[in-house]
Amino acid sequence: MAEEISGSIGPIVLLGPPGAGKGTQAKLIAEKYGIPQISTGDLLRQHVKDATGLGLLAKDIMARGELVPDELLYDMVAQRLREADCKRGFVLDGFPRTAAQAGWLDAFLEHEFFEKSRDKKCLPIVIRIDVDYNDLILRLTGRRTCPVCGRIYNVHLQPPRVDELCDIDGSKLVIRNDDRPEVIRERLHAYEQQTKPVADYYQDKGRLVSVNGSLPAEQVSEQIFRVIESRAWGC
Ligand code: AMP
Repeated sequence: MAEEISGSIGPIVLLGPPGAGKGTQAKLIAEKYGIPQISTGDLLRQHVKDATGLGLLAKDIMARGELVPDELLYDMVAQRLREADCKRGFVLDGFPRTAAQAGWLDAFLEHEFFEKSRDKKCLPIVIRIDVDYNDLILRLTGRRTCPVCGRIYNVHLQPPRVDELCDIDGSKLVIRNDDRPEVIRERLHAYEQQTKPVADYYQDKGRLVSVNGSLPAEQVSEQIFRVIESRAWGC
């Protein structure tokens, strides 16, 4: 059950390949600490659905499993982080995905996010969820999402009670367009090429913590909660 913890948590960044469980863990973190989960994938999908200018630019790129160019994302992310519910902290899932985005995020947080009077800058707690390649393939090919509540299932590992239907609202589960096998390969390739440097960026700054993402989801979250509680700045 949601167990809200008061006080500031600060920004949390979850890293890891597609299928590592970032979305699931981000939801659990958001629930436990009472902070919003911000997924750039979800924000972009909403833009595509609403056919905004950004959505029209991003649509084909996303369908191919490639990364949307950095400059297209910054306004969207800045706008979301300026909303009032982010003041105590937030958990980012799917951003940053390139070293340039990581640099942009640090600069944004330092220059405009936290009140200038604070003596500690709240740079993100960065947690990488590590998962074996074969496990990733199984997770990605089995993933189904509820189009209504966003709950994620896996037909191999975590099936719904009734085949193809959401346990919560009974909606018909869908396969995300980018969870098709050929797109999965491209997404894992994009991760190797572009997102590994993000981990290197944070590692070089001594801010990267890794957790074992091959364990059951509750054990992964226990590791993550321990990291957050040992590193939250109280800022
Ligand atoms: P996700 O739901 O996080 O797997 O994101 C779905 C798709 O949205 C990705 O395959 C990219 O095309 C795009 N996307 C999401 N976040 C980013 C990001 N930080 N940088 C570039 N593209 C992104």
